[in-house]
Amino acid sequence: MSPDPVVVTVDRTRCIGSGLCARTAPDALALGPDGRAVPVHPTATPSHTLTEAAEMCPVEAIAVHHATTGELLAPIW
Ligand code: SF4
Repeated sequence: MSPDPVVVTVDRTRCIGSGLCARTAPDALALGPDGRAVPVHPTATPSHTLTEAAEMCPVEAIAVHHATTGELLAPIW
């Protein structure tokens, strides 16, 4: 059974375009034409790299929520 999908969001008003998330989780996050991060798909499969990307973002712009329950899965400190 595959894991429940997650919703990945980026607060683009906070993103400073470091590119760290796109390098860490390129299947889930990419840099848009304006140099700020965007989710590759509206929902994603949870993964260690996605969690890591959300936790490494220097401006805490990325959030990963459980698609059904809305629970915040990352970042969590
Ligand atoms: S790691 Fe954060 S600041 Fe850097 S590109 Fe991704 S969302 Fe933007």
